[in-house]
Formats: sequence, structure tokens, C-alpha cells
Amino acid sequence: MGRRKDLMARRKKIYEGKAKILYEGPEPGTIVQYFKDDATAFNAEKRDVIEGKGVLNNRLSEYFMSGLNDIGVPTHFIKRINMREQLVRSVEIIPLEVVVRNTAAGSISKRLGIAEGTALPRPIVEFYYKDDALGDPMVSEEHIIAFGWASQQDMDDMVALALRVNDFLSGIMMGVGIKLVDFKIEIGRIWEGDFMRLVVADEISPDCCRLWDAKTGQKLDKDVFRRDLGNLADAYTEVARRLGVLPENNVPRGKPTLIN
Ligand code: UDP
Repeated sequence: MGRRKDLMARRKKIYEGKAKILYEGPEPGTIVQYFKDDATAFNAEKRDVIEGKGVLNNRLSEYFMSGLNDIGVPTHFIKRINMREQLVRSVEIIPLEVVVRNTAAGSISKRLGIAEGTALPRPIVEFYYKDDALGDPMVSEEHIIAFGWASQQDMDDMVALALRVNDFLSGIMMGVGIKLVDFKIEIGRIWEGDFMRLVVADEISPDCCRLWDAKTGQKLDKDVFRRDLGNLADAYTEVARRLGVLPENNVPRGKPTLIN
């Protein structure tokens, strides 16, 4: 235990975000992602600590990322280390949030006046420029290419990647009675000599998806926190339980209760 503490103390922090801390990994080109219990919304205007959220998101992100790796959709994920940490490849993050929508909700409903819950005619891919000070504004392909955030080839590859993630996640979710309304991913570059490839990075968890119970429409994602609809950890536990990723003896201590 003493040795482990020493190692933790010596580890170099690279970046602390709203929900995760990144540390230098054990090998060059690797990073340790630590999942915090902090929840934020509305550009961090609303914040709270949700006991057990980090443990759940670490598990859920492992489940989705390793599933993607298994079907040949490249991600940065290497392996989970413990309850709150996972080892990932270090990537150069493209400064865009890539959102895929199957059903109208959230900002598209507000902006275009489409009732929440309306099925979209096809999956819609949107891009937002990652800049907290600007509130992550939506940008078009024109902006992205003109400002050099990504090339035309990158754009085509990002859309293809995002749609493959959408098909995979929608299928998995539908199998456990959950509708994947929309989600956000981040994409990074990995350099191998002169060759560059794009991989899914960051995390895939109910923090960045909208998940509705297929029958009742009950929300099982971060909107529970954003809109004060109940206990967020209970909602995420329900998603984990349905997917079979939370062995019952491994439920975060003291929290939350399983819904059966
Ligand atoms: N999203 C996210 N991080 C952000 C913004 C959005 O993970 O900074 C996710 C959000 O959880 C939802 C999807 O992207 O699953 C679409 O979000 P939307 O544009 O509707 O924005 P919101 O309603 O969250 O402001």
C-alpha cells in the first residue's frame, strides 16, 4: 500500500478536466485516465459530486471502447487498471466535439423547434468547437477546414468513425431496452512514423449520451442531473446493470442501490 501511494505521488499530472484527471502513463505514449465523481452541466455553472459516478463511467467506458476495438473501430483504450483508472494511448485531440443524433433532443430541439423525441430522418452528425470560454459553438465543415482543425480527409474519416460508433452503440443499447438518442465523442490522432490515424478518444459514458428507456422513455443519462430528475448514480447503475458490466459484488461502496 505504501509503495502504491509512493507511485501515485510521483505520477505526473498532465491535465485536470471537469470529470477526469490525466496522468503520465507507465510507458511513453500512454496516459492514465482517472474518473472523478464530479458532475458539471451548462458549461460548469451547475456542479455537484455524485458518489460512485467515476467508478461507473470507468467501467462503462471500458465496456464500450473495448467493444469498439473488438469490431475494428480504433480507440485509444488499452485496459482498465482499477476502479477509477484506465490506461489509454496518448493522442493529439482534435479540438472538436462530434455529436451524432438519432432522435431530436437538447440543443437541436431548441434551435430548430423540433419536439424532443421526434425521430430524425437519418443520423445527423454535428461538430462543435471545443472552447469553454466560447461555450463550445457549433461549427461547419467550412470553419473546420478553413481554420485547419482538420483536413477534408479527416472530416470524411471522422464522419465514418462517428457513424460506426453510432451503429455499434445503438445496437448494444437496443439489446437492453435503451434508445440511444444522441451522443458526443472526441477523436484523436495517433502518429506512427509519418502515418497518422484517427481513433475514438476521451470517454463514452452516460455523461456524453442521451439514453432513454425504450418502453417508458425514462432518462438514464446526464439529463437526470441537468434537469434535476432524480439520482444520477442510480440511473447510471441501471445502465451498467442492464449491460451486465457491474458485477453485483462490485457496486461502489455505500452507493447506489440496484434497481431490479
Ligand atoms: N454533450 C456532451 N458534452 C458537451 C455537449 C454535449 O457530452 O459539452 C452530449 C450531450 O450529453 C448529448 C449530445 O452531446 O448526448 C448532444 O448535446 P446537445 O447538443 O443537445 O447539447 P445539450 O442539450 O447537452 O446542451
